[in-house]
Parts: sequence; structure tokens; C-alpha cells
Amino acid sequence: MNFIPSEAFNSFRAKIRHFVEHELESVSLKVEMESKIPEEIVEQMRRLGLFGLPIPKEYGGLGLTTLEEVIAYEEITRTNACFRSRIGTSNGIGSMGILYDGTEAQKQKYLPRIAKGEWTAAFALTEPDAGSDAANIRTSAVLDGDFWILNGTKQFITNADSAHVFTTIAVTDESKRARGGVTAFVVEKGFPGLFVGPADIKMGLKGSHTHELVFSNCRAPRENVIGGQAMVGKGFSTAMRVLDKGRLSMGACALGASQKVMELCIERIHQRMDQGETADSLQAVHFELADMAIEIHAARQMLYHAADKRDQGQNVTHEASMVKVFCTEMASRIAGNAMEFFGGDGILTNNRIEMFLRDVRLYRIYEGTSEIQRLIISRNLLGRKEKKNVVKS
Ligand SMILES: Cc1cc2nc3c(=O)[nH]c(=O)nc-3n(C[C@H](O)[C@H](O)[C@H](O)COP(=O)(O)OP(=O)(O)OC[C@H]3O[C@@H](n4cnc5c(N)ncnc54)[C@H](O)[C@@H]3O)c2cc1C
Repeated sequence: MNFIPSEAFNSFRAKIRHFVEHELESVSLKVEMESKIPEEIVEQMRRLGLFGLPIPKEYGGLGLTTLEEVIAYEEITRTNACFRSRIGTSNGIGSMGILYDGTEAQKQKYLPRIAKGEWTAAFALTEPDAGSDAANIRTSAVLDGDFWILNGTKQFITNADSAHVFTTIAVTDESKRARGGVTAFVVEKGFPGLFVGPADIKMGLKGSHTHELVFSNCRAPRENVIGGQAMVGKGFSTAMRVLDKGRLSMGACALGASQKVMELCIERIHQRMDQGETADSLQAVHFELADMAIEIHAARQMLYHAADKRDQGQNVTHEASMVKVFCTEMASRIAGNAMEFFGGDGILTNNRIEMFLRDVRLYRIYEGTSEIQRLIISRNLLGRKEKKNVVKS
């Protein structure tokens, strides 16, 4: 890998760093308390182009490479994780299905609005009885004249309250299910029969909301199958490709948070040394800090390598799973150790450690849990040909 960022990207990265330090950090605590990102912050994100990071320029986005995109997320997640979630779900799992498999008309209709942040996109796969085992979804879609009629319930749908479009995965052929009987749809907010439930009350990512989504005889026009008629029955692979890329983004988020937490620990140690503690008395802490730096360095190499490989058009399913496990589990360890460094002060909300600890824990669950990533990795290693259970891979 030989990554030399362009001058244009370096200057964009500096802009993001400035925005994070001067705007997002100053409202982070308020967002935690009110569980809401102020609209003026969302507007600033729009102006910076953050809603369009990976969307190609021809559709109004910034057209970042995967490597540039993960670096952008590393920067954005140096603060409250909900800010990344507000943009990254929309220009990531919410819209990538349209980009990968959509018709040209669908791309022209949806992507420019999503890239500008006028419309938010969400991704609706998980159901009460189908999380890791995504092939077990029950939401059905039946063709009735020029409309597909959707029925079922999705859960944990990020940004459902602000979303205008939902990439929705439903069963269209019960006899085939994940093997040719699942289809991806773009369902718009105003379609009759679509209902968004109240926001879940969660331990972390307070400013990013997840909701139940109910389809009750929801009518989606025939042309809203992602990719059109030819893609009926092929939606499971669309969903899996979307999640593949999402796992690299998750790794980047965990890395950005870890880097910031380590920097907060360094500041803390400097303060204690200023107050008279000697390097010797802090030796155990120094060793912990060194371990943080070693892990972060390894995580960054893994992430950049996988992102670069993807940019070269190669399949990175295996690497993306390794990145997700390594980075997200590392972030939990680092935030947990930082809590020890800070002692009682660690539990004080304004020191931010407790927020990072809660938020990074969630990264290990969504877009495929650690256990599911380990299954994918081991199956690849063992060269398993027959997959009886199709898990969120
Ligand atoms: C903050 C947040 C945001 C989310 N946003 C979205 C979204 O926008 N769209 C969406 O569709 N979904 C979303 N989800 C759902 C998320 O993808 C699921 O929670 C996740 O895939 C796990 O599914 P589950 O919760 O049903 O847990 P389960 O699948 O029930 O898993 C429970 C436990 O069993 C383990 N397990 C399950 N199967 C196996 C197996 N075969 N082998 C070993 N262990 C196993 C899991 O690892 C886990 O530890 C979100 C979740 C969270 C927490």
C-alpha cells in the first residue's frame, strides 16, 4: 500500500478537524443531554459536503475513495459518535444499495438529494426475529398490479425519524428466500402504509435515533425495486454488499474514537505530572498507554490496507470482518482502560470518557456482531462451500 493523500483531500481533512474541534465538540454535551443534534449543526454538515462523502461526483457527492472516506470518518468520530451516524448511515448503508445496484433513473432521482443532505436515507433489514440471521426476515412484498404491497416490522432502524427513503429488504418468494427470493426496495417516507415508531431509549449514541418501522399494506410502485425488474429476487446480495463496505466504516469510527480517547489519557497524564507525580509512580499507566498506541497503530494499518484493496477493485469481505472485530473490540478495551486512568473523574460526563465507553460498545453489535464477523472469517479460512445458515455477512 502506498497512500499519498492529495492536497485537496488533506485540506478537506483539515476542514473536518476544525469543524469537529470548534463546532461539534462545543455542542456534544448538549446533544447528549437532549438526545438531539441541533438543526444548525446538520446544516453545517450539509455545507461541508459530509452527506455526500462516498457518493460519486456525477451524482453530486464528493466522490471520495474508500481510503479517503475512512480517514474522514476517523476525523469525525473524534467527538460524539452520533454526528457520524447522522451522515454515515445516509450516505452509507442507506444509499449504497441504490449506488451499487440501482437503475440509472433511481440513481438520478435519489443520490443527488442524499448527497446534498436534503434527503436522508436509512437501511431497513433487521427484524424482531432476524438480526444476525438476516436470511430469516419475514417482511413480505407481494406484487399487485403496478404496486408491491409490503407487510412486516423492522427494528433498530437508524435515522428512521429523519429519513425520506428507506432501502428496505423484503421476501418476494417464500420458497427461495435468501437464495433468490429476497428483494431490495426504495420505500419513500410518504408511501401509504409506512409507519415509524417512537425512538428507542438506548445506552449510547444518544443523538442518533433508532426506531421500529411498520409496513402495513405499504404500497411501493413497481419501479421502486432497486435495480428494476431484473433485480427482483436479488436483494439479499445487495444487502450483503452494502454491509461489507459498512464494516470498514465501523472500523474507522472505532479507530477515531480510540485515537481521541488515547489523546485524552495523554492530557490527563500530563496534568498529573504537572501536579507533581513522577514518571516512576505512573509506570503502570505508561505501559497501558503504550499498549493503546500499539493497538491503534495496528488497527490503522489493517483498516487502510483493506480500504486501499477495495479501492483497487478487490473483494475485501474477509479483511472487512477482521477490521470490524479488531477495531471495535480495541475501542471498548481502550475506553475501559481510560475509565481506570481517570478514576472517579472518568464517570463525569463532561470528561467524555463515559460517553466514548457507552458509544463504542454499540459498534460491536450493529452491521454484524463480533461473533458473526468471526464466523465469516473462519468460514473463509476453512473454505466452507455449503452455507446452511446465511448470517449477516
Ligand atoms: C445502535 C444500533 C443501530 C442499528 N441500526 C440498524 C439499521 O439502521 N438498520 C438495520 O437493519 N439494523 C440496524 N441495527 C440492528 C443490528 O444490525 C442488529 O442488532 C445486529 O445485527 C444483531 O442482531 P440482533 O440484535 O437481532 O442480535 P442477535 O442476532 O439475536 O444476536 C444475539 C447474540 O447472539 C450472537 N449470535 C447470533 N447468531 C450467532 C451465531 N450464528 N453464532 C454465534 N453467535 C451468534 C450474536 O453475536 C449476539 O451476541 C442496529 C443496531 C444497533 C444496536
